[in-house]
Parts: sequence; structure tokens; C-alpha cells
Amino acid sequence: MELYIHIPFCASKCRYCDFASYAGCEAQMPAYVDALLLEARHRAQQLGNVMFETVFIGGGTPSLLPPALLDQLLTGIKAHFFIAKDAEFTCEANPGTLTEEWLRVAVRHGMNRLSMGMQAYQPTLLRTLGRIHSYDQVEQSVALARAQGISNISLDLMFGLPGQTLEQWLESLRAALSLHPQHLSCYGLIPEEGTPLMHDLASCVLSLPDENTERAMYDETLKLLASRGFQQYEISNFALSGYACRHNLGYWRQVPYLGLGASASSMLEARTDVAYTRETNLPTLQAYMAMVSQSAWEMQEVLPISLDEARFETMMLGLRTTQGVSEAEFAARHGMTMEECYGAKLRSLAQRGLMEHHDGYWRLTRYGMDVQNAILVELMDD
Ligand code: SF4
Repeated sequence: MELYIHIPFCASKCRYCDFASYAGCEAQMPAYVDALLLEARHRAQQLGNVMFETVFIGGGTPSLLPPALLDQLLTGIKAHFFIAKDAEFTCEANPGTLTEEWLRVAVRHGMNRLSMGMQAYQPTLLRTLGRIHSYDQVEQSVALARAQGISNISLDLMFGLPGQTLEQWLESLRAALSLHPQHLSCYGLIPEEGTPLMHDLASCVLSLPDENTERAMYDETLKLLASRGFQQYEISNFALSGYACRHNLGYWRQVPYLGLGASASSMLEARTDVAYTRETNLPTLQAYMAMVSQSAWEMQEVLPISLDEARFETMMLGLRTTQGVSEAEFAARHGMTMEECYGAKLRSLAQRGLMEHHDGYWRLTRYGMDVQNAILVELMDD
């Protein structure tokens, strides 16, 4: 099983961000950590003795938690749950907020992987995004983490940014590579409704690169990273051999997970005739903390996932990965073969060059990755 802990505090709100994160609410951090630990105790009683193979502290900006609160949080989590000795333990961090003391506490509690939001190299693009840091601070934060013994570092980058050229994107990518990360996540920007960035795009203050440029950015990413020894293991994720993120691979392979904190989701084994349930915590800081303090254990949503839906989710999530969906694992999980569920559709997709069968796996071709949504609609249709 996997554990996710959501820390929804940020130093300031990035201009493209619609995540559940809050700026200027640092005073609420102690009460929030108390609430997280109460939820952890409740979940530990509910789930019994579970062993977590991966831990991921995300946000928000977990590196904004004062070291003493991080220590309190991780001490409490370990008092309630078992964490495997060889667990992958990731924390997200924002350059410019990371300190030596924070890292020392995190490492003492077993953190062994750091995921840092670099996003771009150029100061103008960082300003457009509303990021609070410079590239120099990314460099300093990576050095600080390495000095504390973190040898597994991931950097997040974004392409398709307003005003970004192909050359600027490649410059960002090369700057990230010069820091020798073990893992890179490269996401295309998706402007979200209600964000300041979307407002600027809608009012033509900013404009996005055209479709051909954005496609060239992705294609060049695949080429450059392959030439530097990175394997693409998911649409947006690349790693040196042995450094694919176990936590995220677990999501795509439907490993059950527990999410703690405001807006966090869990996927738990069901005790009824559904495959599993997906539960989502109340989304806002205030509602979540009030719910926990009253021991009301109210959820924003509890969604039973039927056996049929679970089969489709196996395809939807597994096809994000370059390895694809294993026929053997599909049959073991669902008691039905992929041939029985999707045989004719898979063959038709293969004939059109969108999917391929390789070594017991069905996976998307490079062309199929570009039209993944249409493929999923086709698999879903009766
Ligand atoms: S640091 Fe991350 S979570 Fe916080 S505002 Fe920026 S994008 Fe959103």
C-alpha cells in the first residue's frame, strides 16, 4: 500500500495553479499537523496493520513546514503506521524554501527522494508563471539536498508556456540536465479556469505557442532525454535506469493508497462486491480541520468503483506507462482476460498503428500516445 500526505501551504500562489494550496496561511500549520495526526490515528484504527511501501509528501509546498512541525508530523506518522525499511520516501520541495535543517529532519525520518519544481530556466518565464525562485536557487537547493545525502532527485519542468520558444524549452531542459537529476517530469501546461494565467490568456495579454511548436517541444524532449540515458516510463516522466518513481507507478498499477489531509484521495480495497472505493477528503483547509476536530470523518466523496469500471481503469492508467498493460496481471486482477474484455478493439487499434502487442503487454505506439483520449473513448464504448 502507498501513503500520500498533503501539505496545502505555499509561500505564494503560482499564476497557473488551481491545486488545493493556500498562501499566507502559515499560522494554521500547527493546527493542520495536529489534524493530520488525528486523521492518521483514525485511519490506522480503521485499516489495521498496513505496511506502506512508498510515502509521498506533496502539496502545496511541504518544504515550507517549519522543521519542528515536520519532525512532529513524521514522528506521529511512524507511531501510527508501519513503513517498509526499503520504502521510497519522497518529499516535494520548492527551491527557495528548502533549508539544511528541514532536510536534516526529513532525512532522519527516512526521506530518500526529493521532487523539486524547477519549471523553467529563464527569469521571464518564471515570472510569467508566478514562481518565487530563480534557476540559481534550484541549483543551490539541489546541492543542499545532495550534501544531506539525498541521491535521488527529480525535477519538474513545464513546456508550452506563454511566449516560450522551442529553443527556450531546450535551454530549460539542458539546464535541468546539468544538475544531474535522476528523474525528470516534463508536463505540458494546461491553463486552468479561474487562474490569473488563464485570465491573461483569455484577454490576449499572453498567448500560448502554437500546436506544432508544442508538439516539437515534446518530440525534442524524447530525443534529448533518450540521448542522455533517460528512459521514458510514462507520458510525462523520464528516469535513469532504476529511478522510475515507485509511488507514481503504484497509482498507474492500481496499488491501493491512503491519502491524508485536505483534498487528499484514497483508493481502498472494498469489502463489498465492488472492486475498490475511491474516497476524497473535504477540499478546503477550514472544512477539513473542522471535520477532524469534531471526529466527524465526513468525506467530500466516496465512490464505489464497480468491477467493470476497475477493468477500464486498469487500461486507462496502465496505458499512460510506456510498458503498457500486462495481460497476465490483468487476468490475475480481474478474473477475465484482456482478450475477453477488449480483444476486438485492441486488434482494431493495432491495425491502425495506435497500439501494439509486445512481450505479453499491450501498449500505445508513439502515435497512439498523441491521441490517447480518443483511444480510451473507443475502449470504453460498448
Ligand atoms: S508551489 Fe505548487 S502548489 Fe504551490 S502555488 Fe505553486 S504550483 Fe501551486
